Amino acid sequence: MDESSFILGVDLDGVVGDFYGAMRRIAAEWLNKPIEQLTADVSYALKEWDVAEYGGYERLHRFAVTQRSLFRDMQPMRDAPAVLRKLSMHGIRIRIITHRLYLKYVHKTSITQTVDWLDSWDIPYWDICFMKDKGAVGAHVYIDDSPDNVVQLRKHGCRTIVFTNSTNHSLPGPRADSWHDVERLVLDAKEEWTGTPDVSGASGYNPL
Ligand SMILES: [Mg+2]
Repeated sequence: MDESSFILGVDLDGVVGDFYGAMRRIAAEWLNKPIEQLTADVSYALKEWDVAEYGGYERLHRFAVTQRSLFRDMQPMRDAPAVLRKLSMHGIRIRIITHRLYLKYVHKTSITQTVDWLDSWDIPYWDICFMKDKGAVGAHVYIDDSPDNVVQLRKHGCRTIVFTNSTNHSLPGPRADSWHDVERLVLDAKEEWTGTPDVSGASGYNPL
């Protein structure tokens, strides 16, 4: 496994980890509301939960990470760890790309919890990038759920699969509704890449 391998850029929250499920449980506690009152059909900024009058999203996020170990305790999305292990066995280099360093003074906790969580679910990866500009890391195919990230990646010609959730219904495909879809789409992309000898780096692939 080296830099000449086929690289899969993987987002964590909402793709590998059940971010919205975990946040819903924590937000119910923080807002002192029955969980049923918080719709699971959320948009990206969680505005449906009316967190503004309790201090806003950033306070909820800080509470979730520092007091409820959000990044260590969230459940993975169904089949995600096992499919990533299979993809790794196909010689695909897994590059985690996450924007979890979103708030100041929570970086150490966020990084520690993230790495502990990846180990505890035996999620294979060779690289981990904590950054917002996902296109800058160079991957042959990306999987992400955030509408903004997907639009930006595609704008820069990056082959990007949308991982379906309530935040991204408006985006065009290709999309994966499950990790078995991810497996198929990523293996197809790798096959295309392997079958085209002159395509050797992140700038040479065709947007889906
Ligand atoms: Mg995400």
